[in-house]
Parts: sequence; structure tokens; C-alpha cells
Amino acid sequence: MAKEKNNQELMDKIVSLCKRRGFVFQSSEIYGGFPAVYDYGPMGVELENNIKKSWWEYMVQFREDIVGLDSAIFMHPKIWEASGHVSGFSDPLTECKSCHARFRVDHLLEEAGVQADEKMSEKEINDLFNKNIAKIKCPSCGKNKFTDAKKFNLLVKSNLGNFTEDWQKEPVYLRGETCQGIYVNYKNVLDSTRVKIPFGIAQIGKAFRNEITARQFVFRTREFEQMEMQYFTSPDKEMEEYEKLREYRWRYFTEYLGIKEENLKWHKHENLVFYAKEAYDIEYNFPFGFKELEGVHARGDYDLTQHSKFSGADLSYKDADSEEQYTPHIIESSVGVARILLALLTEAYTEEPERIVLKLKPALAPYKVAVFPLLKNKPELVKKAKEIYDTLKKHFSVAFDDRGNIGKRYYAQDEIGTPFCVTVDFDSLKDDTVTLRDRDTTKQQRVEVKLLTEHIKSAIINI
Ligand code: ATP
Repeated sequence: MAKEKNNQELMDKIVSLCKRRGFVFQSSEIYGGFPAVYDYGPMGVELENNIKKSWWEYMVQFREDIVGLDSAIFMHPKIWEASGHVSGFSDPLTECKSCHARFRVDHLLEEAGVQADEKMSEKEINDLFNKNIAKIKCPSCGKNKFTDAKKFNLLVKSNLGNFTEDWQKEPVYLRGETCQGIYVNYKNVLDSTRVKIPFGIAQIGKAFRNEITARQFVFRTREFEQMEMQYFTSPDKEMEEYEKLREYRWRYFTEYLGIKEENLKWHKHENLVFYAKEAYDIEYNFPFGFKELEGVHARGDYDLTQHSKFSGADLSYKDADSEEQYTPHIIESSVGVARILLALLTEAYTEEPERIVLKLKPALAPYKVAVFPLLKNKPELVKKAKEIYDTLKKHFSVAFDDRGNIGKRYYAQDEIGTPFCVTVDFDSLKDDTVTLRDRDTTKQQRVEVKLLTEHIKSAIINI
């Protein structure tokens, strides 16, 4: 296994590259910023889209037993009561009595080497906190006087559709996770398609949480995007399907996205919520250490039982062959787009003596190819380069650059991970060939213009 990283320098370099090259911007920067929210720039949105595309291919397109969904952010507020979020979706908050910075107690304990969990009761976590207080220092000021831990609800409230002054009494919520939209549509999907148990529903969408501490760049934000797949099984097949899902999700990260196995590990939850059968997270070796990338959980029949109870709807399933009737059990995989983005940037960031390169898998790179005329002030070169650009852009996302010298253009493309650069020179006008330069080896070869598309396609098809 790779050495646990605690590499603030690497983190700072990634954050700086993200800003410099248009991957990630601080929200509302010209107004002094808005905490725990980020915007994705021209490169960031391409990378995000490629991540989402890869996930959708892997979870929906490649699977005849999984279908997609796009449910709304706002839902009936009772859904969040049924799910347990209104009463139990909370993190333990403490405040440093000296500098007034706020922290999650489970995180402070973990940093001090004490196993803790945000799902512990207020009393349990306070007992653990008090017992270990001598080991804990405020990460901001270094002192160690804290207020008692208090559970703080993470749901974000809104007055949507409520025109009264005291809307706070009956708020609607911005969804705290996307999967509730899946559970409440389970029957609609069943009735409107040909799916049969076991089957899954996948969804990508925004979620909102009032995170207490939002550090570590895009790792933990208050607005983020989730990619979740909920798989409905019969009670007796739940654990068998769970093992299959764990294996499938592991292969997504290692084989499909190409993340090194040594930078990934399974973390088993020791403090299971009462209904859960088993819960594992896949952790990635971020610059700040191994932290949760994705959760893969076996949830039993809790979700549909709760929604059935609170809505009055019959959410049971009748097996057409065996005539057996039951409430389906659910296994889930849930991951944040931004956590994958940060993992991929960490994985790809490479410093070489002369350059910085993002060695992203070609299929994930924001641009697949960049086209340059050798000289900006030679119209015949610019014209030919534009023609090639126009042809390639029908197949891939392509950059066109005629600024500065070729070396600088290569440098800029390396930093955003563009796998190929095409240069149009005077020979191109005579023999219809161009120079194709490979990002990773920096080797250049002459390629006929008519073969360019196929050449690039074959390199990126294999995600
Ligand atoms: P954590 O323990 O890090 O707070 P969690 O256990 O609360 O995460 P889940 O509720 O299981 O997370 O959410 C599933 C996935 O959604 C996580 O594995 C993560 O990839 C993503 N995610 C959750 N919260 C955030 C957030 N605040 N910012 C970005 N991604 C998030």
C-alpha cells in the first residue's frame, strides 16, 4: 500500500493549478468568497462531465439491470422525516473557547488517533471527547479548551412555496442526498419499465449539507454533486449482491478510471446504524491522507419500510415466479463527483524537471487534442490548422492555440492534461501531414491528416 500522504505542499500545488488553469474557482471570489462552495471553470466542467459520463456508462449503459433517474432537488418535507434526516442527520459540533473556530468532534478525535463516528449519540461522543481531551489541540490556535459537543442538523432549509413569515416552522429542504428521490420513485420505475428484482436505479445530482467544517478544498463542500445507485434485492440475496457491488465499484476505480490500487483501500464501519447490515467505504490516499471517496452500504429494508409507513403507499414487491411478497432490501453505492475529481487530480499530478503534467487517462482529459499553427502570422498555416480543428471538433473536445511559441503551448496543454498536440507547419501544406506530440512521452511523429481522427480515437476509446 502507498505511504499515507500528509502533503500540504502537494495540496497547495493542486489548488494553485486548479485556479491557474481554470479547473476550480472559489465561489463569489470578487466578493471575498463564499465558504464551502466552489465553482468549476472551463477545464473543471469538462473533467466533471467526463467523470459523470464514465460513471453513467459503467453504472447504467453497461448494465441491463440498472436504469437512470433525475428526480428534483425539492421534495415533500415528510420524506426527510421518514428517512430520519430531520431528527438524526447531524454532526457533533464543538467550539474552541479561545479562538472560537468550530470543529467536528469525530474529526478531532480521529486526528488524535481515536476511532469515532458522527452517528454516535451526543452523550457517547461527549464521553469519548472528555476522556481523550488531553490528546486534542485546536487545529487553529493550538489551545485545548472546547465547548461540549452539540449535535447540529445538516439539512439546509428553504421557504420554497411558503409565503408566510414563519416558514421556518414548516420548511422544505434542499435534498441532503440524492437517493431519497430514488426510493420514492421506486414504484414508478417498477410500474413504467420492464425491470424486475434485482434491479438498480442510478442518479446524478446536487445535494446540500450544512457542513460544520468545510476544509480540504472540494473534498467537503456545502453544495456538491452525488452519483448514487440504489439496488433493490430480495431479502435473501442482499448480501450476495452486496459483495458483487463492492467488487464492481472497486473495478470502476482501478480498471475504469485507472486509479492505482495502492492508493485505494476498504474501510469497514464499526458503528453501524441500527438498520444497516454492513457498510464499507472506499478510501483514497488524498494529499491529506486516506479519506472516504465512496460509500458502499447494505441498508436492509429500512428505506422502503419507512417510506411505506410515512406515506401509506404499499411499496412491497411480488415476485411473479415464486409469488413471494416482500419489502425489497437495498444496497447502495454513493460517491461525490468532486471527490473523484480531487482523487484524479492527485493521481495525475506529475512534476518533471521541465514541466508539470496532468497524466489523466485520455478519456477523462478536458481536451483530447490541441491544434496549433506553427506561426500565428502565416495565414496559410492558420487556415490549414483551422480546417483540422473544424474536422476534429466533430469527434472530440479540441483546443486551438496560436499564442506564444510552441514550447509554451505544449506546457499549457500538459498542465491541463491534453493527451495530444497537433502542429501544422510548412511541410503540412505540401504533404498533408502534421506533427502529433504525445503528452506522456513528449515524442513527436508525423501523421497524415486523414488518419488523425482514427489515431486519436483509438487512444481514447479505451477508458
Ligand atoms: P463524510 O463522512 O466524509 O462526511 P458521509 O459518510 O457523510 O461523508 P455519505 O452521506 O455516505 O457521506 O455520502 C456519500 C458520498 O457523497 C461520500 O462518500 C462522498 O463522496 C460524497 N459526499 C458526502 N458529503 C460530501 C460533501 N460535503 N462534499 C463533497 N462530497 C460529499
